[in-house]
Order: sequence, then structure tokens, then C-alpha cells
Amino acid sequence: MASAETIPVSDALQTLRRVFGYDSFRGEQEAIVEHVIGGGDAVVLMPTGGGKSLCYQVPSLVREGTGVVVSPLIALMQDQVDALLAVGVRAGFLNSTQDFEQRREVEAAFVAGELDLLYLAPERLSMESTRSLLDRGKVALFAIDEAHCVSQWGHDFRPDYLGLSELHERWPDVPRIALTATATKATHAEIVSRLNLREAGQFVASFDRPNIQYRIAPKAEPKKQLLDLIRTEHPGDAGIVYCLSRNSVEKTAEFLVANGISAVPYHAGLDTRTRARNQSRFLREEGLVVVATIAFGMGIDKPDVRFVAHLDLPKSVEGYYQETGRAGRDGLPSTAWLAYGLQDVVQQRRMIQTSEGDDAHRRRLSQHLDAMLALCETVECRRVQLLNYFGQSGSPCGNCDTCLTPPESWDGTIAAQKLLSAVYRLQHERGQKFGAGQVIDILLGKQTPKVTQNRHDQLTVFGVGTELSGTEWRGVVRQLLAQGLLAVEGDYGTLLLTEASGEVLGRKREVRMRREPKRERGSRAATA
Ligand code: ADP
Ligand code: ZN
Repeated sequence: MASAETIPVSDALQTLRRVFGYDSFRGEQEAIVEHVIGGGDAVVLMPTGGGKSLCYQVPSLVREGTGVVVSPLIALMQDQVDALLAVGVRAGFLNSTQDFEQRREVEAAFVAGELDLLYLAPERLSMESTRSLLDRGKVALFAIDEAHCVSQWGHDFRPDYLGLSELHERWPDVPRIALTATATKATHAEIVSRLNLREAGQFVASFDRPNIQYRIAPKAEPKKQLLDLIRTEHPGDAGIVYCLSRNSVEKTAEFLVANGISAVPYHAGLDTRTRARNQSRFLREEGLVVVATIAFGMGIDKPDVRFVAHLDLPKSVEGYYQETGRAGRDGLPSTAWLAYGLQDVVQQRRMIQTSEGDDAHRRRLSQHLDAMLALCETVECRRVQLLNYFGQSGSPCGNCDTCLTPPESWDGTIAAQKLLSAVYRLQHERGQKFGAGQVIDILLGKQTPKVTQNRHDQLTVFGVGTELSGTEWRGVVRQLLAQGLLAVEGDYGTLLLTEASGEVLGRKREVRMRREPKRERGSRAATA
């Protein structure tokens, strides 16, 4: 009589169960693993938490020889190797953090065929000494992790990745598997062409993370809004809070601690020991909140992160998706919450203007930001917009803020005309440039000292905008900036007209705007 044990299972499935203790493969894992075991090349686009590691770990164990994993995440190699050693996989790494003796031991183990997996930093593979080392042992496969680093278009470009195209020439019989969680069509195409993977099997998983509730809220008092979110929806939960600057990381962490939330900071300015301690506390303790710059999280594998909050606007949709993707890897309901305001747009536009690099580079940064702004200002389902960005389709999800509390859109043409003409008059009648605050005071007809001093109460636009509140006007400015109908420059964020502004002023163009819901669904505290 056949019992479960006697039904033949593939080597791959057996390895999955025996070594990793999982019952079955997830999604595309099985197809990928079988393809690579059979000697085929593969390109794998799978969201964070999708289970990319097993796609090369299992074939490395099943195929003869050592799986060589190229990864830019030097800081995580020790953790990855420790995790493998713990389940009895023979693993090692070679990188610049080791001394000569440690490296020699790993090299000897590789040559003797005593390693299942060997992790390498990309720059190692461009060294002839490493290449001849690999010739002295047997390579089962090359896994190129974080393969989007080959893309100059993307936000994590690493020049060393370009050299990886030579792997195939030197070791034509060794299968290669390139993996990434970044999946725009452009990045995908660049991975395929730069790494010579045209013949490879292309495995594109769905990027939908249905258990993550996406919410983007107008930024009023971000720290208080965050505290409300944690207290009302995520008390005692583990979470990650992203801030743009080290300073705001520190301030926010202090604020949370002062309000009884257990939180620690994480950024590149902290000494190595503090960083390592805070990271390992986050991984081991329950319900700790890490307030961090984006330096935190690449490769962090904590299944029960219940929320990811952004207090500043991410620079790109890829970044946003990757950072929010660290929530809910266990599949349970989780929140991705972003607070976004006018100041974010002003600040990021300024950073792009003053960034190093050529015009083409600045143009790319601008396009990334525009896509992120479009996601913030959309009146459609956030998830659909996100999936569309990654070249995938979907239908309204019922689990994002715009689905739960549909924002109204309104005809903002007249408001836009008023605001743009105030900017125009300042510039052309007075030869002056001002920031949003002053322009809004003028529209509202406020007799502030700065208004009287500059005789701005004499302008024809003075007081013509009392139908909207100051907050609503800030929303108008933000959306005009997002739509490219207005520009900012300089340290004070002075407003300037763009070519497209002329179309609005000349009544050739309508402007649709998003009306913010007065309060957020899911949060009991009013934040508007
Ligand atoms: P990625 O690298 O794509 O972000 P990981 O490889 O780190 O994802 O996997 C994410 C989590 O899912 C890990 O905790 C991993 O152990 C788990 N996992 C992956 N595949 C399976 C599977 N087939 N069955 C159960 N758990 C899995
Ligand atoms: Zn939705």
C-alpha cells in the first residue's frame, strides 16, 4: 500500500521539505526551481517577501557544485549565511569585511567542494583572483540577487553589476538566475539586455500585495498623525517609519518614546554597534518600531511588520513599493501609510535641481518624482495605479484609501487661474518671486506685515481667493506642482510659472483637483 512517504517527489520538493522544512513551493517557485535545476537561465521578478531566495537556494543544493550568489548587501551576508548554517546548509561568503585568514578558509572549502552556497560582493567577481578561484572548484549556478542594480535608470545602480555580463562567456554551461523585486518594464528590459539573458526563462510574479492597505494622507502634523495611527490601529505592533533625514529620524524616535511607544532610530550616522543592536532588536523583539532612513530594510526579513509609515515622500514609486513591501510578509493585514504635503514637493524638486550629475540624470529623477506624485494625487484605486506602474493590471481593490473613502474631484480651473495669475503679477508687475505662503496670504486678502510692507494689498488679485481656506490653497499649490503647472526654485521654494501654466491662464486647459476627505478612514482621530 502506498503511503505518503513512498509517493516519489522530485529532488527539489524533497530538498524543500527536508532542508527548509516547508511543505510546498509557493506560486512560481516550483517552475523556476525546476527550470534552473535543468540548466536553464532565468529572470525572476517577484515582489519583496515573495520567496526569491529559495529559487536559487534549492537548485544550488540539488545541482552538483556550489551556488555562487552575487549580492550587493554585504552587511547582510553574515545573517544570510548564519541562517543557512542553522538549517544545515554549508554556506560561506567572501567580502571586504573579512581578514585574509577568514577568506582563505572559505576559499579552501569551496575548492574542496564543501560549500553548497557561496555569497560574493559584485566587485569580487571582477577580480581575476576570484575568477580563477571559481575555476578551481565547481559552480552549480550563478544567482544575481538585486539584479535591478544593473539598471542605470534605477535608483540603486552599481557599476560592478555591468561586469556580470561576462559570466556567461567565461562559464557558458553554468545557469544564471537574476532576481529582483523591481519590476518596471524598463528595468526588466535592462536586466535582460545588460546581463545577456534574452534566452532565459522570464518569470514575472504578480506584484499585488493584497494584504497591504495603501493610504496616503495629507500631511498636517506628521508626528501626531503617526502617533494616532499607532495608537488607534497598531498598538504594540512592529513597524517601520521612514524619514528623509537623520535629524527627523532622531526627533521622531524621541517623540514616539516620549509618548510611550517603544521605538529606536536607525540611520547611517549612528555608529556600527548601535545600528547593529537596533536592527537585531527589531528582528528579535515583538512590537518594536524602527524609525529609519531608507538605509534600513534592504533584505530585512521580518514576517510580522504590521505597518510601514512614510513621514516624507519617497523619491520614486519603486522605492515606495519596496519600502511598503516590508509590511505583512506573513500575509496578514498590514498598513502602508504615507503623509504627504506641499513641502515634500518643494523640497524634492529643489533636491533634484541641485543634485549632481547631468541633465539626463536630473530628468530621470524628475520623472521618478512625477510618477510618485501622480500616485499621491490620484482619485483612482492606489493599488491599480501601483500595479499599472509595474506594467500589470488590476481592478479597484476595496483595500486602499481611495477605494474606502473615494475622494471627490473638483474643477479647480478657476482656483488655478487665480493662483497662477498672482504668481504672474508678482513676477511681471513687481519683478518679485515669493513662496506659497505669501501668495496664499495675498489670495486670502490677509493684511500681514509682509503684505503691507510689499504693498501686495494693491495687487488686483489681493483677496480674490477667500472661497478657499489656507489649507485648501496649499492643496491647490501642491497639485499644480504635481501636475507640472507650477514650478519652484531656490532655498525658499519660490513659485514660478511653467510653459504649461500659460495654457491654464489662457483658458485653454481645465484643471481637475482632488478634494481631500475631511478625515481618514480607519483612523479615529481627525487629521485634517
Ligand atoms: P524575498 O527575497 O523575495 O523578499 P524571501 O526569500 O526572503 O523573499 O522569503 C520571504 C519569506 O517567505 C521567508 O520568511 C521565507 O522563509 C518564506 N518562504 C519562502 N518560500 C516559502 C515556501 N514555499 N513556503 C513557506 N515559506 C516560504
Ligand atoms: Zn483600491
